[in-house]
Amino acid sequence: MTATHEPVHDLHGSEALRLVGTDTQVPLVGGGTTRYVNLDYAASAPALRAVHDAVEELLGWYSSVHRGAGFKSRAATAAYEGAREAIRRFVNARDDDAVIITRNTTDSINLLAGTLPAGTHVVAFAGEHHANLLPWRRIGVRYLGIPETPAELLETLAVTLRDLPTCDDPHLVAVTGASNVTGEIWPLAEIAEVAHAHGARLLVDAAQLAPHAPVDMASAGIDYLALSGHKLYAPYGAGALIGRRDWLGAGDPFLRGGGAVKIVTLDDTVWAELPDRQEAGSPNVIGAVALGVACDTLAAAGMAKIAEEERSLLGYAREQLGEVPGFQHYRVWPADHPRVGLLTFSLGDMPYDLLAAVLSAEYGIGIRHGCFCAHPLMMRLLKVDDAEAHRLMDEARAGHHERLPGAARMSLGLASTRADVDAVADALRAIATDGPTWKYSVSPDTDEYEPDPDPRPLPPLPMRLVEKSHAHGESA
Ligand code: PMP
Repeated sequence: MTATHEPVHDLHGSEALRLVGTDTQVPLVGGGTTRYVNLDYAASAPALRAVHDAVEELLGWYSSVHRGAGFKSRAATAAYEGAREAIRRFVNARDDDAVIITRNTTDSINLLAGTLPAGTHVVAFAGEHHANLLPWRRIGVRYLGIPETPAELLETLAVTLRDLPTCDDPHLVAVTGASNVTGEIWPLAEIAEVAHAHGARLLVDAAQLAPHAPVDMASAGIDYLALSGHKLYAPYGAGALIGRRDWLGAGDPFLRGGGAVKIVTLDDTVWAELPDRQEAGSPNVIGAVALGVACDTLAAAGMAKIAEEERSLLGYAREQLGEVPGFQHYRVWPADHPRVGLLTFSLGDMPYDLLAAVLSAEYGIGIRHGCFCAHPLMMRLLKVDDAEAHRLMDEARAGHHERLPGAARMSLGLASTRADVDAVADALRAIATDGPTWKYSVSPDTDEYEPDPDPRPLPPLPMRLVEKSHAHGESA
């Protein structure tokens, strides 16, 4: 197949949606370099050029916000508060919703979990990302099984909410907007309708949805929404929690400290109103403005149009990859269900980390591999039974390093083209037919396959850890 570098979609040629670093050359293990093919947007996306330029402009005016009388402080405060409104517009939040600047989706959901009224019943599905699975455990959560269809989802939810204790305690339903493993888009308006009919509120984890499809909190009836700037083409460390003020503005704040108070004595505190009440400490002004600019830039281009083009590119990817021998696509819902641009897959019986290492080292293609911070969903997709899951837990508890079952995931974004899809399809076909052309072994540092040797030099970035670190974690 001949890969063409012509963008085939209008948006991909759009100057307004240019990203930073799309023509980066990376070294190949056998020598030479190639254009980096980024198929890992779902983990973290490059910055929009518009965001990068705005940050550069802002830096000249950077100063403390809110409590400074200096002119730069006033300018920076106006920029910070302007970003809050841009985020509100982007998700079409209600005028009286609070928009709280956080670090990311994980932070946002933990914040909500930390400020729920006492006695709130939380209902969540087992296939969620850990960010929307674990924070609820501190207050108690009822997990529902991974629904086989959207219809089953709505039915199970309705039955569960109907059978919850009919007391006056508040109820919260926490769901994903789009799965980071299957890309499947959840029917949010219908879920909200079921939740509200039973007196429950709805939180949507929009980490994967917001960058790839329109989000409309007001018309879909979403009570709370969490998102991350680094997945929205604004990787400067900010995210947001948007939603109803009453729960967020009552009781003690999630984080306590400067900025969140009106007055403090040694034995008492009067907390500030929202949003300050939930933004203790010095805020990430640069990150918030970056996120606001990303929201405005994407909105101006049109999220519906972005979604449509990604859908068409995903269709092309499914066709191309579906023809590769041994390619297996993991999904839960019917093949024609709407989804964001990502595909989780395996190739024959090749270990997922070896596959990712070969794509990177021999083809310059970046994908994600592992369990994508959604262990229960991955266990279900990979048919790992409870006994095996418990054995793996025992091994982990005993401090043994045993690789978890996993898969590979490619994900699309604003600068993705058919050429990128062709590149990965060609590479997978070659790997399926001839296998790797380099030697790989499991590294004692990472417990994963790596080229052996790996002669690729790292670029001379401003900071570089020369010694290999033993610390490693999982992120998706
Ligand atoms: N939810 C989903 C669906 C995600 O994909 C992710 C990131 N992989 C998160 C939550 C957590 O996002 P963050 O790491 O930015 O907090």
